[in-house]
Order: sequence, then structure tokens, then C-alpha cells
Amino acid sequence: MAEPETRRMNSPLLRIDQVAKAFGKTRAVDGISLDIRENEFFALLGPSGCGKTTLLRMLAGFEAPDSGRILLSGNDISPLPPEKRPLNLMFQSYALFPHMSVRQNLNYGLEMERLSKAEIRSRVDETLASTDLTTLADRKPDQLSGGQKQRVALARALVKRPKVLLLDEPLGALDKKLREKMQLELKRLQHEAGITFIIVTHDQEEALVMADRMAILKDGKLLQAGTPEEIYEEPSDRFVANFIGVMNFLDGQIDGDGAFVVDGSKHPLPMRHGPRGATLAVRPEHVSITQRKDALRVVISDIAYHGLDRALHCKTKSSQQSLQLRLAAEAGQKYSVGQEVKLAFNADKCRIY
Ligand code: ATP
Repeated sequence: MAEPETRRMNSPLLRIDQVAKAFGKTRAVDGISLDIRENEFFALLGPSGCGKTTLLRMLAGFEAPDSGRILLSGNDISPLPPEKRPLNLMFQSYALFPHMSVRQNLNYGLEMERLSKAEIRSRVDETLASTDLTTLADRKPDQLSGGQKQRVALARALVKRPKVLLLDEPLGALDKKLREKMQLELKRLQHEAGITFIIVTHDQEEALVMADRMAILKDGKLLQAGTPEEIYEEPSDRFVANFIGVMNFLDGQIDGDGAFVVDGSKHPLPMRHGPRGATLAVRPEHVSITQRKDALRVVISDIAYHGLDRALHCKTKSSQQSLQLRLAAEAGQKYSVGQEVKLAFNADKCRIY
């Protein structure tokens, strides 16, 4: 008995299989394969024009793939029109009905499904409560703040209990503070509703905060998929490394001992590489100030205060390359712009591209 259950849990809810879509000469989505699991909060992340929205629209059924398949619980949903798919797309613009109250906006989708009045009432009440909208149920959209409108749009999608909710830049219209609050809110709602969320965002921090797993796209191609930790700690290429979080890149050489050499200072590496010109990548939190004589000499060019910590922006003394490190706010206090310091890297955390 246990085996089929395990198999069911491990098999993907949604399988995107070699999906491609071109608009004229633009390959908007260029052969993407991805598995998304049940109850997962999945983020599609990438720079503008990388194909995120096109992929989402194909999942929703508003755009037909040129090739490839989209499977939901093992069934090809490509022939189904949007309204027949158990996937619901929440639009960037919210698309609320302006002449209807919050409650009527939620009722609408269920009335279309011809549910009984009692069923509609109880599902709408439950969703209003979970999205903190009960007291606003009689207001019209233009009597709501941006964050409240966003919650109504979300509630309207959730009330239909889709298997998968697709969200295109759902927090795009909100200011930074509200955005951060809603990120946690969305995550809580997803968890409580037990619905798979696929969210499109170009904001890497947002993806890191919310997603169980994420995919990085560029020019219609999938570069890497994994948990936020995997992608942050082991970016598959230079583009991903630069796109997620802050990364220092230093040009130098790998010498005969397999160490990275820049400006005459030598840095051990976690993996063996043959001698060649190379770029070292290291996150600011893995750079430290040292007294070691042979360390990398830099001059502090700027100090930025971030509350909890300070970012020390530096330039290597000889080759004038930029890099930064982070120090606890107090520890950072004793340094000043123009000062020369020496830097070492945490060898285990260095990568070569
Ligand atoms: P953004 O973050 O700016 O919304 P995106 O990653 O969502 O970008 P898409 O909207 O999927 O990107 O667009 C991918 C590529 O396909 C872009 O080069 C875009 O110009 C092109 N494209 C998208 N829709 C169409 C269309 N209907 N006709 C022609 N080209 C299109």
C-alpha cells in the first residue's frame, strides 16, 4: 500500500515538457521542461523579456505552445480552453469588477459554476475570513487601498479552489513595505489553502523569500531550477550568480598549484582546476578582512549603512577591480573611506566560472 502513495507524492502535479513558443523571429519560450509538485510555491524568475509571462499564459491556456506538452496529473491539458483548466490566472491588473462589491466580486466566479446559494455563501465567507476581508465585504474596489485590492483579487482566485493558481507579478503595484508584508501573507495563504502557486516575478529577493523552488529563465531558456538555497549557494553559471543576490567577480589566473591568483595574492579553491585565466565568484558574506601579509590589498571606496550591517565597497589596489563585503554594523564602524585593508575569501565558498 505504501508504494503507490509514495509514487503519487513524488510525481509532479504539473509537467512542462519541451514547451516552445515563438512570436515571429522571437523565441519567447525556447524548449522549457520543468516539473512542479503538488502544494509547491514555485517562482518563475528572470529579466524582462525572458519569457515568464508567455510560459504562464500557456499554462493558463491563453496562448498555445508551438510544440511540447503541458501535463496536469499526467493528463495533457493542451487541448483544453482556459475555463476548462483547473488552473486560475490572477492578472497583474487585478481585473476586479468596479461596479461590484468585494463579496459580489467573489460570488461571480462561483455563480458561473452554478453552485448553490448556500455553497457560494459558505465558500465566500470562508475565503473572506482567510484573506482578512470580512469587514470590507460591502465595499467597492475604488473604496479600497492598493494592498486591499490585491487581497480581493487573490481571494477571488482562491474562492474557486483551483488546483494551481498562476500569479503574474502579483505584488508589482505595491510599495516596498506593503510588498514585503504581502509576500509573507501570500506564503501563509498558499500554505493554508494547500494550493500550488506559480508566481512570475522579476524581483529576485521576492522569489527568495516566498518560493519553495524557483526557475531562472533567460532568453526563453531555463538556466537553473532548484530551491532558493541551491540557487544562491550553487549558481549554475555566471548569469545566475549575478542575478540572484550580490556576487563579487574577480578576474585573475589559476596557477600551477590550482590556486586563484589576483594582484599577486593567492587564494585556495575548493576544486582542482588546471592553470588558466579565470573569474572567481564569491559572495560578500564570504569575504573577510585579514592581517595576513600575502592577502589581497584593497582600498575602501564607499561604506553603505544598512541598519543590521555595513557594506564595504572596495577596489583592488593594483588591478582596480570592485568587490564588496558585509560587516556587522558595529564592526564596520572602525573603517573609513580611503583606508587600505587586506581581504581573504572563505575557500569553500569560492566558485570559478
Ligand atoms: P516582463 O518581465 O517584461 O513582463 P517576460 O519575461 O514576462 O517579461 P514575455 O512577456 O513572456 O517576457 O515576452 C518574451 C518575449 O516575447 C519578449 O521578447 C516579448 O517582446 C515577446 N512577446 C511576448 N508576447 C508577444 C506578442 N504577443 N507578440 C510578439 N512578441 C511577443
